[in-house]
Amino acid sequence: MRVLELTDEAFRSELREWFLRNPAPEALDASIGLSHDYDAEAVAQQRDWQKRLAQAGLSGVAWPPEYGGRGASPMQQLIFHEEHQRAGGRGGELFFVGVSHAGPTLIAYGTDAQRRRWLPGILNGDILFAQCFSEPGAASDLAAITTRAVVDGDHLVVTGEKRWSTRAQHADRCELLVRSDAGDRYGGLTYLMADLRTPGITIRPTRTVTGAAEFAEVFFDGARIPLDSVVGEIGGGWAVATTTLMFERSTAFAAMIVGLQNLITRSAACCADDPVLAQQLSELSDDVFAVRALLYRCVAEQQASGQPSPASGALKLIATELNHRVRRFAALAGTDGVVGYLESFGLRIGGGTSEIQRNIRAERVLGLPREPRP
Ligand SMILES: Cc1cc2nc3c(=O)[nH]c(=O)nc-3n(C[C@H](O)[C@H](O)[C@H](O)COP(=O)(O)OP(=O)(O)OC[C@H]3O[C@@H](n4cnc5c(N)ncnc54)[C@H](O)[C@@H]3O)c2cc1C
Repeated sequence: MRVLELTDEAFRSELREWFLRNPAPEALDASIGLSHDYDAEAVAQQRDWQKRLAQAGLSGVAWPPEYGGRGASPMQQLIFHEEHQRAGGRGGELFFVGVSHAGPTLIAYGTDAQRRRWLPGILNGDILFAQCFSEPGAASDLAAITTRAVVDGDHLVVTGEKRWSTRAQHADRCELLVRSDAGDRYGGLTYLMADLRTPGITIRPTRTVTGAAEFAEVFFDGARIPLDSVVGEIGGGWAVATTTLMFERSTAFAAMIVGLQNLITRSAACCADDPVLAQQLSELSDDVFAVRALLYRCVAEQQASGQPSPASGALKLIATELNHRVRRFAALAGTDGVVGYLESFGLRIGGGTSEIQRNIRAERVLGLPREPRP
């Protein structure tokens, strides 16, 4: 397949022109996002930016037109993420959960009423989503979650603790996976889109080694969530959650790879007089080029066949490990601050750790013996 034939340079030019006329908040004020933290003013600014994207038809570009998207192809979606990042936006970080996976999950599994209620607000920045899946004792093994949900009239009463919910302290709603039947590992899971302002929910930000409160713990203490927030069926949550994770992983890396290309370009001038650094940088540059080629191949195959490319399973592992190496180089060579390097550890964990990704490749691609299952 000739990947380049599938790219859409006219769409790329349209985006570049639009971003030139409509600079992202970060492009106008370089201090935004430097601390990798958001205060109330920064959140409001990001909501405004999301609204402007939506008004221009640039929010949820790959969503079907009947739900407010522009029905963009996978390749156009990739180009959008690249150009948004190139224009200085942080890749729509705060709205990533809503636009990239909560919305598509609702389109796949929601009722018409749920879609009408939430999709417009996700697109225009009025509803900020977080993901509440992981728990202190269950994340790699997500089906082991224990947060309980008991039906009481037309509500589910939820009790338990979620952890590592990215930016949940700023969110309005969350993707919430709960256990509605203690005796059935997969069939006892239920998926909700819960209002985070429900009485009985407490959110406590978690400050990490970078100094920023990137995550939050979310405590549910008998929180009464209306049954009309259940997506899919009670007990049907596993299929919905795995669909969410598939959407989450399929779009995440375009912005990261453009960020690495920018960093390598910035680093080049500083390393020109040092042959050792120059050689290391040149090797990293080749690797970034190769991972971008892999991303394009995956997207082109998906576009041609309508199915995720078999190679896309390796992308998360390869991209986040390379990100770690480039960020380490830049921190040591002094061409970037240390925050990007510290954050790169987390990216090897979030969305499925590198160890788990390697296990999956070993079992499914190389046919090595399976891990014992719980
Ligand atoms: C940047 C970031 C963002 C995140 N955002 C969210 C979010 O928004 N919402 C949310 O719900 N969660 C989020 N998480 C949580 C994330 O999904 C979990 O941290 C991740 O799934 C790993 O789970 P754990 O931390 O409980 O580690 P564990 O599952 O306890 O694993 C601990 C260690 O053991 C290894 N390990 C575990 N099982 C195996 C095995 N079978 N074979 C080999 N090694 C194994 C792991 O690789 C890891 O090194 C985020 C995490 C990070 C770092």
